[in-house]
Amino acid sequence: MNQKAEKLIDKKGLRLDGRKPDDLRPVKVDVGVLSNADGSAYVEQGKNKILAAVYGPKELHPKHLSLPDRMVLRCRYHMAPFSVQERKSPAPSRREVELSKVIRESLEPAIFLEYYPRTGIDIFVEVLQADGGTRCASITAASLAIADAGIPMRDLVVACAAGKVDDTVVLDLMDTEDKIGVADVPVALMPNLGVITLLQMDGILTLEEFEKAVNLAMEGCKKIYALQKETLKTKYINAKEVEE
Ligand code: ADP
Repeated sequence: MNQKAEKLIDKKGLRLDGRKPDDLRPVKVDVGVLSNADGSAYVEQGKNKILAAVYGPKELHPKHLSLPDRMVLRCRYHMAPFSVQERKSPAPSRREVELSKVIRESLEPAIFLEYYPRTGIDIFVEVLQADGGTRCASITAASLAIADAGIPMRDLVVACAAGKVDDTVVLDLMDTEDKIGVADVPVALMPNLGVITLLQMDGILTLEEFEKAVNLAMEGCKKIYALQKETLKTKYINAKEVEE
């Protein structure tokens, strides 16, 4: 986060894309979008376009990675070479390795891992288009894909960031706000249980601003959670109607 003179909030209090400080970008979610995976989901959040696919629970290869008392979660976050303006190398970067870990850790508390000892699930996240906040949209998508695979969960996980641009705390930063802004606070939440499973901060905030950002991010999460639930319900009610 490097502060530059460029203004990110205009005199009317609106952001570069016309949003008010506490507005989310438009969010679209869909599940069951890939027929070859056990579970899948697609999320758009502003210009972010993200696919998540889940395989399992299944026997792990290599076998020695399996655990006697719980299922192992593996996660790969990957940005497609065409997901950003300048072609990104398809090889996994340090950032992608870190985000894979962060996404996995934010999902683990939601899954009844102990139900499936000696097995594993693989989660693949492909960022098709990136515009800031991809880790959050990836968590939202991966959690839907896990639910779509029929894996028992304590709650869905949903994520959204808040942060500070110029001197205002704002919700759901897009790429320019992320890069030029002052701070970014991604939050993942299990809304029904009220449990935070990811909390990071890039930049510097006062305690008051930090609390405001976390609360704002949680409000954003709850709005996206409503969409997640609606999408799952619509898919399974429609599927049931087709069967009948
Ligand atoms: P997040 O996507 O979770 O906000 P970062 O803060 O690391 O994660 O990245 C912010 C944004 O920077 C990404 O969403 C993406 O738009 C952009 N970005 C990340 N990696 C690259 C890259 N290799 N080339 C160009 N832009 C990138």
